[in-house]
Amino acid sequence: MVKIGVSDLKTKPGSEHEFRTQASWSHLVTAAARVPIVAPVRVYGRVTNSGRFLVVRGQVATTLELTCDRCLGHYRYSVVAPLEEEYALAGRLPATGEDGDANSTMQPLAGDFIDLRLPVEETLILALPMKWLCRESCQGLCSHCGRNLNEGPCQCNDRTVDPRLAVLEGLLPDDTIVKEGAPHGGARH
Ligand SMILES: [Zn+2]
Ligand SMILES: [Zn+2]
Repeated sequence: MVKIGVSDLKTKPGSEHEFRTQASWSHLVTAAARVPIVAPVRVYGRVTNSGRFLVVRGQVATTLELTCDRCLGHYRYSVVAPLEEEYALAGRLPATGEDGDANSTMQPLAGDFIDLRLPVEETLILALPMKWLCRESCQGLCSHCGRNLNEGPCQCNDRTVDPRLAVLEGLLPDDTIVKEGAPHGGARH
């Protein structure tokens, strides 16, 4: 529950109300994933009665558990993101086109509470990184054996490199022979 009581505030233009609340949510559901939330979701800021609107400005802070795109390991991701919402006071919801204001987040205030659950969820989803990496230098998994290469090289890595090295080493004596053999080759003509 992320609800803020505004019964007093909504009747007093120019007044402000600071809030600080938190919720215990287990997951954040996005289009692509079900992301565990591993710390309380803290929401804080202030609500201002601007005369026509209740304006919420604050921040959302929590910790999410993401899955690394490369190594599939879980890691913690701290989020502190800005929250901004506006609620039109009763009878003040602008008609379409009024003010030329296309603010799609505008919604009517219903009752004596502002329920920030949806805005907070949207804020957290927007705060997710494009790439989920446990660290910039994550080595990922070996495509052959699946070993987590952050924990060290795997055996099949050695096997694929060794034959090539063996071939290169094998060429060196040949080169030496060709150089040494060149006068003999010339002698054949
Ligand atoms: Zn990783
Ligand atoms: Zn491997």
